[in-house]
Amino acid sequence: MNDYIARVSENLRRQYAHEPEYLQSVQAWLDMIAPAAGDPRYERLDLLTRMVEPERMFTFLVPWQDDSGKIRTNHGYRVQFSSAIGPYKGGLRFHPSVTPSVVKFLGFEQTYKNALTGLPIGGAAGGADFDPRGKSRREIMRFCQSFMFSLYRYIGSDTDVPAGDIGVGSREIGYLYGAYKRVTGRAESSALTGKGLTYGGSRVRQAAAGFGTVYFLARMLERQGESLEGKRLIVSGFGNMSWGVCRKAAELGAKVVTLSGPDGYVYDPDGVAAQEKYDFMVTMRYSGEDRVEPYAEKFGVEFFPGKKPWEVPGDAALPCATENELDVEDAILLLANGVRYYVEGANMPATAGALKLLRLSPKILTAGAKASGSGGVAVSALEMVQNSLRYSWSRREVDGKLRSIMSSIYDASAAAAEEYGLGYDLIAGNDIAAFKKISEAMIAQGL
Ligand code: GLU
Repeated sequence: MNDYIARVSENLRRQYAHEPEYLQSVQAWLDMIAPAAGDPRYERLDLLTRMVEPERMFTFLVPWQDDSGKIRTNHGYRVQFSSAIGPYKGGLRFHPSVTPSVVKFLGFEQTYKNALTGLPIGGAAGGADFDPRGKSRREIMRFCQSFMFSLYRYIGSDTDVPAGDIGVGSREIGYLYGAYKRVTGRAESSALTGKGLTYGGSRVRQAAAGFGTVYFLARMLERQGESLEGKRLIVSGFGNMSWGVCRKAAELGAKVVTLSGPDGYVYDPDGVAAQEKYDFMVTMRYSGEDRVEPYAEKFGVEFFPGKKPWEVPGDAALPCATENELDVEDAILLLANGVRYYVEGANMPATAGALKLLRLSPKILTAGAKASGSGGVAVSALEMVQNSLRYSWSRREVDGKLRSIMSSIYDASAAAAEEYGLGYDLIAGNDIAAFKKISEAMIAQGL
């Protein structure tokens, strides 16, 4: 690590000592890009500091009225991390764990995830510490409206384009978009993505995050002379990302044998591979209970309360739930079970220690969320293109474009790793390729 990186890293540690997720994601990234950060221009322009801290951030109160008439208050955030290559772009998360640290880490990851999609989008993230669990549909709508009454002044199709994340699905995007339209008086389609198909959404957007992860895994398998046919995938979560993974995996001949929630995991040896099962995942999500056990009851499979799926043997592990869901013990289990591929869907799903262990082990090939998790935002960017064309592409067209975007992210990551003498390190390769693209864009635009 050169002196400049060490100084940037030390400053961050001092300034953001109380923001653990943000620090974790930035520190990991600084380690990855170190081999490519020797250019003296970077220090002269203080480029690294400008790349690891957000350009701006907004915090606002979100008061709303529950069904009993009581007023409740939550905290809303929007971090506009980087506009180096296009308007700010990234999801909104509604979950009680949302803090300034979490939105900053998400905005940081999003910036470098978006960079290699080949589409001109910067990076952002936002959300609120609102807990959708147990809330009625009307409460969700009122919350989304109040949230948008504060957010609307910061967003727009050429400024910042939010989308969904945990707790924000197509229903919430509908309410948010409806509120945006009323308060601005404009049907500005590409001010939000993840919209419904009847009012400007893109085909494949809901499933895109999971589809992209499976496409990325397919390229990794191909390099080893293998394919998805007959593979057993260990997947966590049961939300949007996992749902897309199950569908694309089944289509390409693999089987997802686990799903998980905060309550434990289910093991389905036949695979989550039937329309009824996909639909039930959606039903569980919209029940607002955040539990996966009902899947076991419905389909007569085993449920393991309080456990994580990483103890189940399989060919590939795909964490698709949330940050830091996989720790060192879990990583040891994956290696002991002979799992050969580790492909991230969720942002920063492994703790720093777990990631180090997996990356350095010759027994498992690894891909990071900034590459393998970028299918969702890639189709969001395609949704913006369709909105500006006042046109919509067929399912096949969008899925085909998604597949080729994932493939070019894979190629760029593998090539950058090779160029810097890092072998087949897709995580470092991806971070380096994105770093180079954003730094060039920043240098070209001056201060
Ligand atoms: N939260 C999603 C992601 O991490 C969506 C971002 C978007 O579509 O703008 O990619």
